[in-house]
Amino acid sequence: MSGYFHKKNAYSHACSVNFGTGCRQKRAKSVVPVFLPFLGCPMHCVYCAQDRQTGTAPSPVPAILAEAEKALNAMPLCSESGPRELAFYGGTFTALPVEERRACLAMLERVRAAGRITHARCSTRPDALAPAVLDELRAAGVSLIELGIQSFDSAALSASRRGYSGEAALAACRTVQDSGFELGIQLLPGMPGCTPDVFLKDAEQALALRPSCLRFYPCLVPEGTVLARWLAEGRYAPWSLEQTVAVLGRTLCRAWQENIPVIRLSVAPEPAFDAAVLAGPRHPALGALIQAEALLCAVQDAADALGRPPRSLVLPRSCQGFIYGERGALKPRWAALGLTPERILFNDAEQAELRG
Ligand code: SF4
Repeated sequence: MSGYFHKKNAYSHACSVNFGTGCRQKRAKSVVPVFLPFLGCPMHCVYCAQDRQTGTAPSPVPAILAEAEKALNAMPLCSESGPRELAFYGGTFTALPVEERRACLAMLERVRAAGRITHARCSTRPDALAPAVLDELRAAGVSLIELGIQSFDSAALSASRRGYSGEAALAACRTVQDSGFELGIQLLPGMPGCTPDVFLKDAEQALALRPSCLRFYPCLVPEGTVLARWLAEGRYAPWSLEQTVAVLGRTLCRAWQENIPVIRLSVAPEPAFDAAVLAGPRHPALGALIQAEALLCAVQDAADALGRPPRSLVLPRSCQGFIYGERGALKPRWAALGLTPERILFNDAEQAELRG
């Protein structure tokens, strides 16, 4: 999701609103994920239940790789079907034991040589970026590293026991970029110590780094975690759903304005994980609710730039399914902008236009 800006046309009293891929969950490449839950992690973080989140039963790395390679070799060649990316997710990839890391990279090199993969990425912690390991990743064809930054705020990182400071998180982002990789940044709004104000600052700091992608994982409380104990003891309270939608909606709008893709707005649905969530802003359509809020924010900004009450709004048809929020909850706010349903039109264009 990326790309929002508005341009005022002084003669026609219209603001063009370009959402880029803002209303379409679309990726240029297909992604083949390989999950390595908790592997390489120095500890289990207080909120993390990766095994349940990925729905993956613990398996030895050779078995995980063999299964992934078999599946990849059964896929069409990229020269026929388009670019495809192999993604090592979960765990701390750059801190895997050396033999396991090399086995992963060797599998990547084989499927790349066989024409089944064109790109590769991995996710890791900001305090696990040894230069020699980065060299290995680059040589094997990894082009993007996603960092589980979670926050740039040292107090929030300390409250969440992440084990590094905000300065170290920032330095890690620069290390990834200076080492020739694309950077992905993952943030965890609502984790212990992360207030809405802290998160809004985190998001601005992330946008200023011009990453290739952002992911937001609103903090949930899975059973069996330290966070679940803190919740029971009254030491932690999650963000409400309403707060999460409001704050992430504004942030998504900012990302559109900066043309930075946000590729995730919530933890992916997974029955075993959903059953284990005790508290937190979980909703089956959370991403759509956040997009609806972001769209409203974007049009509010465009209306301010227009300088006169809008007469109508034309939106890409892809926005039709979520514009009014859950059960039309946002209709009064659209109406307050002068945009009642009969003044909002949909078409097949990618650009939106606000007319005054
Ligand atoms: S949050 Fe990241 S570093 Fe922490 S346990 Fe989970 S996967 Fe490992």
